Amino acid sequence: MYADIIIDITHEKLDKIFQYSIPSELEGMLKIGMEVAVPFGRGNKETRGYVVGFSGQTDYDESKIKDIMCIVEDSIAIEAKLVALAAWMKEYYGGTMIQALKTVIPIKKQEKVQEKRSIRLLLSEEEGRWQLEVFLQKNQKARARLLAALLDQPEQDYNFLTKKLHVTRAVVRALEEQKIVVLDSEKVLRNPIGYRNYQSQIPDYTPEQQHAIDIFREEYGCGVRNIYLLYGITGSGKTEVYMEMIAEVLKEGKQAIVLIPEIALTYQTVMRFCGRFGDRVSILNSRMSPGERYDQMERVKAGEVDVMIGPRSALFTPFPKLGLIVIDEEHETSYKSEQVPRYHARETAIRRAETEGASVVLGSATPSLESFYACKEGKFKLFELKTRAGSGELPDVYVEDMRKEMRAGNRSILSDRLKLLIESRLEKREQIMLFLNRRGYAGFVSCRACGYVVKCPHCDVALSAHRGGKMVCHYCGHEEPQVRNCPSCGSQYIGGFKAGTQQIEELVMRQFPGARVLRMDMDTTRTKDGHEKILEAFAGEEADILIGTQMIVKGHDFPNVTLVGILAADMSLFSNDYRAGERTFQLLTQAAGRAGRGKSKGEVVIQTYNPEHYSIEMAAAQDYDGFYEAEMNYRVLMGYPPVEQLLAVLMTGPEEGILETAAKYLKEFILRIDKNKILKVIGPASPYVAKVNDVYRRILYLKGADYGLLVEMKNRMEQYIEINSGFRTLWIQFDFNPMNIF
Ligand code: ADP
Ligand code: ZN
Ligand code: ZN
Repeated sequence: MYADIIIDITHEKLDKIFQYSIPSELEGMLKIGMEVAVPFGRGNKETRGYVVGFSGQTDYDESKIKDIMCIVEDSIAIEAKLVALAAWMKEYYGGTMIQALKTVIPIKKQEKVQEKRSIRLLLSEEEGRWQLEVFLQKNQKARARLLAALLDQPEQDYNFLTKKLHVTRAVVRALEEQKIVVLDSEKVLRNPIGYRNYQSQIPDYTPEQQHAIDIFREEYGCGVRNIYLLYGITGSGKTEVYMEMIAEVLKEGKQAIVLIPEIALTYQTVMRFCGRFGDRVSILNSRMSPGERYDQMERVKAGEVDVMIGPRSALFTPFPKLGLIVIDEEHETSYKSEQVPRYHARETAIRRAETEGASVVLGSATPSLESFYACKEGKFKLFELKTRAGSGELPDVYVEDMRKEMRAGNRSILSDRLKLLIESRLEKREQIMLFLNRRGYAGFVSCRACGYVVKCPHCDVALSAHRGGKMVCHYCGHEEPQVRNCPSCGSQYIGGFKAGTQQIEELVMRQFPGARVLRMDMDTTRTKDGHEKILEAFAGEEADILIGTQMIVKGHDFPNVTLVGILAADMSLFSNDYRAGERTFQLLTQAAGRAGRGKSKGEVVIQTYNPEHYSIEMAAAQDYDGFYEAEMNYRVLMGYPPVEQLLAVLMTGPEEGILETAAKYLKEFILRIDKNKILKVIGPASPYVAKVNDVYRRILYLKGADYGLLVEMKNRMEQYIEINSGFRTLWIQFDFNPMNIF
């Protein structure tokens, strides 16, 4: 028998299986996913690797095959099914197998487990009394103190007791030797949730909720596994539906993973799950220490956890019988990894569910085009929740045309309507959220007088202003000089929008001197719980106005917020990115959904220079279907995902000349092997930041209808890159259907 090993060195040339023989002392112990030490390379240097398979024969010269040295102590084996998932991720997204393996390990090594020690009396009451007499006679005071305490209560916490009685370790040892006491130690796995016997009420479901629950139950009960999209407006009760579905799965003795974007993973949300499933719920998040994370995996392995809640990486929780994966806010870009392998949690969840016999439920008020398209194609099953479940009507939305404000002489960041509404809210002691849309900001050039945006004539995405007075297209590399006057109306107010949250805060404090203002952005949330604290304070009505970036869109429910102002709604619209329209629609819809969650009706003001853009119109009308149709027309016309598939090849290197040449050769190679001209090859272009830390960057895009063909192309490129010395100093990454343009 030979073991197939993936060596733990991230280098394309080593990205293959190496065979080792299994020494007799390891026979029968070695399992797939274990970390081992092996002699590697010319010097037979001790190197680590993972077992990914076994085979009965080898293609190599048997006499040259080396022995595995040992299993790495303190290592954590990867479950065999996660090794298989990693292999799929490597193929589907690119990168090396070791990178993929490291992605699916929830924690890298064993951490110290906290121990709880207790001390227990071994004597009967009578024996104990007699022994106590002996100690007292011998004037052994410490021993007597300890024994007396244990006679009161025969088992106590070791640390607590010895401290309280000022008893040294030596005294305890003496009693241990006399077989008077014994020390017990017990591993204590930390529970990250301060679980407070909190019980949540199961509501009477609305007919829409009940429908989704019934269909899921019926199908799950008879073994049908499916991918469901729960498309429900904010506050329509999606979370209640997830919990009911999870309950169904737990009934069958299976487990569930719930993915929630980290920013929305608040105490409130976790408590709702605990209220339903008690301490069988666990969480993972990036603020937890390695020890805490380790404990959660131990609890999972010990069968103490049925529901794991966490961001993207919680997808790899090693449950033995996975029954359901829920992905809340499935449209969120944070579900796509920015590290190789650049996997998407949605696709990877679907893959994991398929191989482990689980179902998947995706939920969103603004589903990704990918998911909605999959419903139309019959690949996912759609459930709709069109009404709010709890209290609260949908708010009234006003679109304020900032071009008109400008013409009327108002050059402030706030429109007249928003100012008036803020005043009225302050009088009524209701709360206000001001949301500054900064997402995807990448220097697009627009006219403040007429809203005109300078776009690439070839790609229909905004050009970006670069230093040195150029405007550049990041898809195709098209360049033109920066304009001084608006090509459409001649105004000189053309340029980039620069206001930040801090400036808005200052302006608001000047305009409304009595108002209590909180600001939430990167600066104010740097501390550990900064984010939660600000939301908590606002929820406790310690402020009238909360100003923030997209961070404020998620998480808490603020029943007293009756006004939401969206400043610079267009900011994300022209971030040179084919997903810009989708992202803008999502942000505006989510932000608007924050208003009027309580008893009084809410109002939303959307300030824009592009009121006629469909993303803004449809968000104002809260019309997802209308938006989907318009956006799909654009994607079809331009051949962008989900209609066609896009593969970005990111190339970086220290020397621009070499990079330039390599990019050119790679493009020629692609054109050569794509004989039938099935693919469209775009670029090489310079990304927005063409140089970082003296490392230059170029991008090639491949576009085609067939994902499989792009995977094949990726594999061919990997081979080509490996055998050509011209790529030696370069670093090349693949990104399928990227979320951002680089
Ligand atoms: P979503 O996840 O779709 O935003 P939630 O599940 O958070 O919606 O529900 C919004 C609010 O409505 C919550 O306070 C929830 O407890 C409440 N709720 C959900 N379903 C019902 C129902 N059927 N009846 C009454 N209240 C409900
Ligand atoms: Zn203009
Ligand atoms: Zn272009």
